Order: sequence, then C-alpha cells, then structure tokens
Amino acid sequence: MAIRSPFREEKIMTMDKLKETKSYVPTTNPCKVCAPLGASLAVKGVEKGMGILHGSQGCSTYIRRYMISHFKEPLDIASSSFDEASAVFGGKDNLKAAILNVDRNYSPKLITLSTTCLSETIGDDVKAYCREFSGLTEAELIPVPTPSFAGAHLDGYYAAVHGIVKHKKRLESAGETSEKTGKKKNRQKINIFPSIYSPADIRHLKEIVSAFDLRAMVLPDYSATLDGEIWGEYIPISPGGTLLDDIAAAHLAEASISFSPYLPEERSAAAFLETSDGVTHHKLRPPFGIRGTDVFMSTLLSAKAVDEEGAVRFDLPQEFQEQRARLIDAYVDCHKYLFGKRAAVFGDADFVAGMAAFLDEIGVQPVICACGSPFGDFEPYLLDGLENTAPEFIGDDIDFKNLEEILSSIGADILIGNSKGYPISRKLNIPLIRAGFPIHDRVGGPRILHIGYSGAMNLLDKIVNTLLERRQVDSTVGYSYL
Ligand code: SF4
Repeated sequence: MAIRSPFREEKIMTMDKLKETKSYVPTTNPCKVCAPLGASLAVKGVEKGMGILHGSQGCSTYIRRYMISHFKEPLDIASSSFDEASAVFGGKDNLKAAILNVDRNYSPKLITLSTTCLSETIGDDVKAYCREFSGLTEAELIPVPTPSFAGAHLDGYYAAVHGIVKHKKRLESAGETSEKTGKKKNRQKINIFPSIYSPADIRHLKEIVSAFDLRAMVLPDYSATLDGEIWGEYIPISPGGTLLDDIAAAHLAEASISFSPYLPEERSAAAFLETSDGVTHHKLRPPFGIRGTDVFMSTLLSAKAVDEEGAVRFDLPQEFQEQRARLIDAYVDCHKYLFGKRAAVFGDADFVAGMAAFLDEIGVQPVICACGSPFGDFEPYLLDGLENTAPEFIGDDIDFKNLEEILSSIGADILIGNSKGYPISRKLNIPLIRAGFPIHDRVGGPRILHIGYSGAMNLLDKIVNTLLERRQVDSTVGYSYL
C-alpha cells in the first residue's frame, strides 16, 4: 500500500488524542443501535427464521419500529416480555411461553433467542434454557448473547451469523442432519458472509456470483424477506432467506469470503469454518469502489478458474468488464468536480472503512472517519484502504455530539452516512448523502446499491450531484452548464 503523506501518522487526530484535549461527557446521541437489533436483522435473512428477544417488550418494540422505518416491510420480533417478577427472579417461564407462542403462530424452522440488557444483567442462562426447551418445538433454538452494554448492532449481527453456523455444524457433527446434507446435489462451492448491507447489495452479490456460474451461499440473505413483493394475504414469515440446508452444508464448501477483515476470529463464521473444517477463509475488504470490487472479482475468478494444473481458464464476465470500463470513464469525467473535496464519513466500521477507501480512489479526502461503536482495530482497518489521502480524524465509539464538535473544527464539504446525521447536516449546513443503515427520513434505503462496480457508479453520481447542487444553490447568478 502506498502512503503518500509523509506526515500522515502525526497529522491524524484519534479518539484518544481528542479525549486528552476535550472534556468528555457520557454518550449523547449515540451513532449506533443495540446488539439485539443486529441479531434480529440477521435472522430475517434465514429461511423460516424468527427472532425472540429475551427481556422486556420495549426492546422488541423499539427495534421493530426502527427496522420497519428503514425497510418499509412487515417485521415481527417476539419478546419474552419480562415483568417485575421475571426481572428479579429470572425469565425462564416467560421464555418458555414465548417459544410456544412463536411456534404456534409462526411455525418457524429456526428461532434465535437473543438476550437484552436486562436478561444479561440478571444472568439468565439462555443457552441452558434452549437445551431444556428444545423438545417444545420443531424449530431449532439458537441462543445469541447480545448484551448491548458490550457491543452494538454490528456485533449482534455477527454474533447471530456465527451462532447459526456453529449450531448447524454441531448438528451435522452429531449426525442429526448429515443424511440430508450428504445427499444434497449442487452443494455450494463458496460461502459468502456480507456485513450489514442493503437488500439491493445482497441481490447484487448473488447476481455477481451467478454470473461466474458459481454456486454460493450468502448468509444472511434478507434481499427478499426485507424487500419483497406485496402480498394478497398475511404471511407470518416472509418468504426467502438463506436455505437451512445450505447453512448445514457450509462446512463442506471449498472457501468462504467475508467482508470484515478485522473482525476477531472468535466472532467470525468464516474463521470458525476454517478452523473446524479447513474451509479456506478469504478475508476481503468491503467490495466498495474499483479496488474493493476487483479483489472480490479476482477471488471469485480464482475459485472458478483454476484447473487441475492450476491454470486460469475463465475471464471476468463481459458484463463486469463493461461495467468497470464505464466506471473508469465516469471517474475521469467527474474528477474535476471531486478532486480536493473533503468528506466526513460515519456509521458502522465496515461501512466507514469501505466508503473511505472508495472516496480515496475518486479523489475525495475522507477527513473524518467516525465509527459509532467500539472497534479495536478501526484505525488500521481504515488506513489499509487508503492510498492517496489521509484523514484528519479517525475514531471509533463516537457519538453525534463528538461528531458535531469534530466537524465544526475540521470542516468538510459533505457528510456521508445514515439519516441520523441529518440534525448535524442541518445545523452546520453541510449536505448529507444518505447511505448505509438506517435511512429513516427518505424512501429507498433498502434499494441503495453500495457494492460492486454498479454500486460505485451509483455512489459516484450521488456524491458529484450533491456537490454540484450545492455549488448551484450557493451561486449568486446561477448557471445551467457545469
Ligand atoms: S434495553 Fe438494551 S437491549 Fe433493550 S433496547 Fe435498550 S439497549 Fe437495546
């Protein structure tokens, strides 16, 4: 990786350095959501999957409301609905009732049981309850520890994916599903574990692998369950999601691709499969922009193309060659509007790292790179993706108050992130480009394409047009040609 700024390390302000210079107060307006939300999102991407939150019903209501506002789809999340007695003596009976209710009303094939702050604090042993209650339902019960005081939505999301893969593998090892998996024809060659991407991104991931004529499992896959068609009648669990048979066969695939290279091994489903069954784990950066997408494409090429002698016999499909060429042409066309512009990016670690790398390749300086939750290796994750620019601030575990202070002192031409940044955008009069999750004040959040060459083209147009609109609005005379 080329680092062009000789003063880069000295010039970057980090959260630790900022803490030394500012008086710090407890979190104000967090730039993250809670861990059970991530787990609830992940299980929506599993065939006939249903989530129960073990705790008070407000957690479930809040998370449901939050997700429906973004996805604009019906979305049920059950709760074990703690009362005063269960908050003191434990919620085992409530959980049993919740499992029976969910089984009766939804007939799921798989249920995740995610803990909330309350059940974590009182120390309810959900893992033991799952073992005890497994005979109550045909569905597989999977405990997912999601204490929000120890993580945020991305942590809950990865915990659920990891828990589901590990659970299915354990069943396979115990011989409970091996017959089905063993007979399964056309088993996947590759497992793909995306980060929290939009349904449009997940659809595009599947289009890309199918253009390579590769059989792949994408887990989770909420591209249909959270962005589906209109129904004539109520359907308890939305159709779609990753097939349970495919998850059970994940350990038999040749390779896994994950898009969060700094995710600790103990929380990574792909790392688990590599350790347990030798499934090669390709840790890729987010497939944002040309560089990120090229690495993804070449990984697929190598999976597809190596014959017995190790010779490559497959080219990048024509449609992607054309998309890539058009994208380069658009980069050239737009460079005069973008070069030297300054952007502040905020959100999940994966989103910020992917977006910053994309900005770096189009000539925009990601001056502020702010991750809303604690993420140990955020700085190296971020810097690994930059070749031409250097941020002036990199920080994890920041809230919107921190972001506003930093933005006021550093300054930027555009803000890029979720819709929760709108109050800052309005106050500081900096345009906000809505991307990532959640988008609560616009329609189309689930349809925003971020990944691949097509996603890069979409983001490029949005960024350039936002900058041009600002110039046009700010102009005293106005103009029609740009
Ligand atoms: S109490 Fe905890 S789990 Fe429930 S909504 Fe709040 S942060 Fe999330």
